[in-house]
Formats: sequence, structure tokens, C-alpha cells
Amino acid sequence: MTLSTEPGSGPEIRIFPLPAFQDNYIWLLEKAGRVVVVDPGDAVPVLRVLDQGKLGLDAILITHHHADHVGGVAALAAAHGARVFGPAKSPFAHIDVRLREGDRVSVLGQDFSVLEVPGHTLDHIAYWCSPLGALFCGDTLFACGCGRLFEGSAAQMFASLSKIAKLPEDTRVYCAHEYTSANIRFALAVEPANLDLVLRRDECAATRQRGQPTVPSTIGLEKATNPFLRCAQATVRAAAGRRNPDAGRDEGEAFAALRAWKDVF
Ligand SMILES: [Zn+2]
Repeated sequence: MTLSTEPGSGPEIRIFPLPAFQDNYIWLLEKAGRVVVVDPGDAVPVLRVLDQGKLGLDAILITHHHADHVGGVAALAAAHGARVFGPAKSPFAHIDVRLREGDRVSVLGQDFSVLEVPGHTLDHIAYWCSPLGALFCGDTLFACGCGRLFEGSAAQMFASLSKIAKLPEDTRVYCAHEYTSANIRFALAVEPANLDLVLRRDECAATRQRGQPTVPSTIGLEKATNPFLRCAQATVRAAAGRRNPDAGRDEGEAFAALRAWKDVF
């Protein structure tokens, strides 16, 4: 499946998801027989594709330390000698190059910028490639949702999502889980009258019916439909305020109330 193309001449970068576990996606980028994988929680599906396609693994990009994102790193690095890039602040040990906000990673002839996006975990980073129009954001921003707060505060996550929301609207969002259907059910509880959201629900249902991934989405679609990026909207603030009177104070409080609501939805 070709989901993105590189403008200009030369071989294209192809980006496609490898399903893993219950609902994870390991993202695989390929160009001229060389591969980069993002968050390989399991080595088996990656090794299968590399073997079948006679592909070489150049690099492994890690967004955060959870086992379903790093479980395959050691086996892949050992089998292919790939360099492992990951967060400077990560407790995960098997990282060759530790990255901070503003650092750049050059793979497959493209530069990726590192964004620090704490909240789901404290070490969480995202990889953004402007020319490719692609963001790999792990468990921070999901299609129509966001990651749970396992380590960081609501304020940290809100700041991280606000940073991501400033990226160009046509940026494709490659998140690490297929959670879209459940996320849309929650989003509709927050904003039942959002027509973009109603359309998205129908499109998502049809996509899942065909057995296809609902990701990547785009920043533009997320800003139109994802309640966690819409805390400035009066309708979202009002819905958050019905859960928690403090939520009316500012956008950050509204976000915290939505996140707490989603936890028990
Ligand atoms: Zn995680």
C-alpha cells in the first residue's frame, strides 16, 4: 500500500503499517530497498517483510519506552545492525542516538525534526518530516483522540498536543494504534452536532468494514473533529464544563476534564 509519495524525482518513500498485537501499527518506510521502522513492538512482522522483500533495515525510530513500541528493537538491531534512535529522556536502554527537541534525524535521504511531546509518558517524542508531510507521533495524538496520561500531567499533554496542532494542516498523522472507532464514539458524546465528525464516523465505519486502517489522518481533519484539539471551541468547553465546573476556566482545564471523562467513558 502506497500512502505517501516524495515530491520531485528519485525513488519514492513508501509508508505502510504493519499490524501488531491487538491494535498496534508498526510504521515501515521504504525507499530503494532500504527501510526504517517506527516503534517495532514486535520484531516478527518486521523481519517477515524484510526477508520477503529482501530489504535492509537502516534505522529504528522509537517514540517512547512502552513495551508494545520497543519490544522488537533488540532482535531487529541484532539481526540487521540498524541504528536505534530514541528519546534522550527514555528509561529504555537500547538506544544508540538519544534525541531532544529540535534535533534532526536523517534517514532515507530525509530530515526528520524531533518534537518533545510528554504526557502519555515523560520521554515521549515525535518525528516530523516537513518535505514528506508526515508526523510519527506514537501514543500522543491518535485519530480523533489522544493517549492516556500514564506519566505526565494533563497540562503537559495539552502543551504537547498544542505544539502538534501548529503543524501544517496537510501533515499526515501516523499514530501507533487503531483506536479510531472508539475515539469517534467519545468525540460524538462531546460534540454530537459536529457535522465533520458525523461524516468521519461514517467513513471510519466503511473503512473498518473493508478491513483497512483508518490512519494516517491529517492535522486538518484532527483539528476539525478531535475534541482534544478543540478545547477552544465553545461547544467543547460547555461539554467539558458539564463534567467538571473547573473546565470552564481555560482550554487546559477543559482538556483535563475531557481526558478524565474519556478514561471512564
Ligand atoms: Zn504507550
